Amino acid sequence: MEKIYMIPVNDAYSEPGGCPICRLRDKAETNYLEYYLGPSLMEPDTRKITNKTGFCPVHMGKLNKAVTNRLGLGLVMHTHLKDFNEELNPKMKSSIPAKAGLLKGRSADYKQKLNSVADLIDKRINLCPICDNLNEAMKHYVEVICWMFSHDRAFNQKFLNAECHCLPHTSLLLRQAAKLSQNEASDFVDALYANNSQTFDSLISDVEYFTLKFDYRNTDKPWGTSKNSIQRSMRFLSSDGRDFDEQQSKKQS
Ligand SMILES: [Zn+2]
Ligand SMILES: [Zn+2]
Repeated sequence: MEKIYMIPVNDAYSEPGGCPICRLRDKAETNYLEYYLGPSLMEPDTRKITNKTGFCPVHMGKLNKAVTNRLGLGLVMHTHLKDFNEELNPKMKSSIPAKAGLLKGRSADYKQKLNSVADLIDKRINLCPICDNLNEAMKHYVEVICWMFSHDRAFNQKFLNAECHCLPHTSLLLRQAAKLSQNEASDFVDALYANNSQTFDSLISDVEYFTLKFDYRNTDKPWGTSKNSIQRSMRFLSSDGRDFDEQQSKKQS
């Protein structure tokens, strides 16, 4: 088993609160963002990739916020725009439907042409080397998690005690479990199921309590653990915690 993935996995499961796999993902993402804004920008091999791919909408936003290397970002944008334009421009131009005359020029294939140019754009705007690297890293992480669960007693305990596994990462773990032997999968999914159903139960009850607090008869009752239950539910459902404003829950009282 790959040792380089075991240390971060252990660290993520040793920290309390939230989904440990979200922590692994966030750390890996930060590393890749730094990598693509760092000296790698000037390496011809990296540029060959980013000229083609650019970055997905989410990672463009994150690169834009990480203002450490504006020049680098500008250079990448410049060559990516040029590459995109070189491919798209002639195809888009030739997709302009001819005006149908009375006798000639009526052609139904303009619809297909327009759709295929749209397909090209949709495909290209979602390409992203950060997403690719991240997906690759996550594959290794879940492999290591499943392996450590059945080979490392201390880790097994940490897994059982994790506060939650968000749903996107539960899905990743289930897919990994599907590759294990039936006996190994049995223990692992049993633990994952227990963790998952506990999270659902506690969020459902906290969010319900949250809504009941809006009843005037409950105004004086304490918020308890329900106060940030909306944000915790969103993190559980979507895995990405950083866009949910915890401050919002503080305004409620
Ligand atoms: Zn997660
Ligand atoms: Zn991306």
